[in-house]
Amino acid sequence: MSGFRVDVLTLFPEMFPGALGLSLAGEALKQGTWSLAAHDIRDHGLGKHRAVDDTPAGGGAGMVIRADVLAAAIDSIVDAEDTRPRLLMSPRGKPLTQDLVREFASGDGVVIICGRFEGVDERVIEGRNLTEVSIGDYILSGGEPAALVLLDAIVRLLPGVMGKVESGEDESFENGLLEYPHYTRPREWEGRSIPEILLSGDHKKIAEWRHAESERITREKRPDLVKK
Ligand code: SAH
Repeated sequence: MSGFRVDVLTLFPEMFPGALGLSLAGEALKQGTWSLAAHDIRDHGLGKHRAVDDTPAGGGAGMVIRADVLAAAIDSIVDAEDTRPRLLMSPRGKPLTQDLVREFASGDGVVIICGRFEGVDERVIEGRNLTEVSIGDYILSGGEPAALVLLDAIVRLLPGVMGKVESGEDESFENGLLEYPHYTRPREWEGRSIPEILLSGDHKKIAEWRHAESERITREKRPDLVKK
């Protein structure tokens, strides 16, 4: 039993585990629920300067990560028996959703490639069967923060990571709706009180209220989710 295995290919291995070394994900890492190895793409760079990028064919701004260099980096950690998905963080990718996170979390692990500069040579995406994944419609300067987001979402779903099993089930998106509002002590705060029903002890009524609130909030904030 080796847990959920993650390999990350990056030009900045120091960015890992980063935020994932703390809190829930960090504890799970220490416990061996998951493992993380960050590999420097530059170890496979060319020449004295270990070059990993070059100018874009056809001209234009920026630099592109070379197919041969990135493929050598991938081949050094992935072999034919390795069935883990190979993910390339990319704004062109499949939008990351809770469904996709759940799919990844149910496997043995993932291999994540972080782009930089203008991106990577298209041929390595085809040649190494990479699945592009996007964390949203905006541009980051590199794939590393996107990889941290993806891994945070995956790791909290791994068996034993979240304290109470139920704490994941009510969550936004798990049932196609956004979550209902939360309250805790004090009962009165700056003239605002906790909705009476939550203090009633009537669990059936509370569940109904929460479901109605979920629907109302989803309609208000994310009408696009209601259509789905
Ligand atoms: N020229 C590219 C953007 C490159 S940004 C374009 O216009 O599509 C540099 C790197 O950051 C990318 O290779 C990718 O790995 C990462 N990145 C940027 N935005 C991202 C996003 N929304 N989701 C996932 N990765 C992203």
